[in-house]
Amino acid sequence: MKQVTLTIDGKNITAPEGTSLLAAALDSGIYIPNLCYIADKPEPSASCRLCFVEIAGRPEPVTACTETVAEGMEVSTRGEKALALARTGFELLMASHALDCAHCPANKKCELQKIARHLGAKLKPTRFRPLLRELPVDDSNPLFTYDPNKCVLCGRCVWACRRDIRSGVLGFAHRGFERRLTTFGDEPIGAERCLDCSVCVAVCPTGALSFKEGKG
Ligand code: SF4
Ligand code: SF4
Repeated sequence: MKQVTLTIDGKNITAPEGTSLLAAALDSGIYIPNLCYIADKPEPSASCRLCFVEIAGRPEPVTACTETVAEGMEVSTRGEKALALARTGFELLMASHALDCAHCPANKKCELQKIARHLGAKLKPTRFRPLLRELPVDDSNPLFTYDPNKCVLCGRCVWACRRDIRSGVLGFAHRGFERRLTTFGDEPIGAERCLDCSVCVAVCPTGALSFKEGKG
């Protein structure tokens, strides 16, 4: 496949034609915050609104997951406008997040912690009033626990569940603030037709889906 050459933060990189800018950056070891991106997924969800970058010649930042690499493109991941948009998106997300890292199974490997470090943002938002959902934790599955209060609605688990075993156990219900990951009929995950493959746990970027003690 034809290769395209571009620069990101002054570094020359090459990527196959048609590659998304986000994939090209991550494949070259350049981190851009993201939550809803999965490498194998053909179309981007573009739902987390965190992967903003600036491209020379464009007046406004763009999301790197929806942009395709182009020859000679000059990209900055550290532009102030892009970082400001990403920080706002992140703080809004964290305003409804049940923050308790010390007792969370994802502590020290959590994507939210990594994003906060990268953006120079606090995990606990300062600009927005916290609005927590306080939903019950589902530990009905023998292998893993689902804590909806730590879910960022990225959709990775929904996609992985459908891709790998086409079971489609997981899906989203409701809209706006009420939106949440659940199962058909809102049954507990353990009571559903889950095949216990745990691909959902593997792709979850937070502590929302986590293995039970000794099951990981
Ligand atoms: S999901 Fe991440 S940010 Fe949230 S409590 Fe767990 S470790 Fe902390
Ligand atoms: S449970 Fe995890 S993978 Fe699934 S939508 Fe929530 S944060 Fe994303």
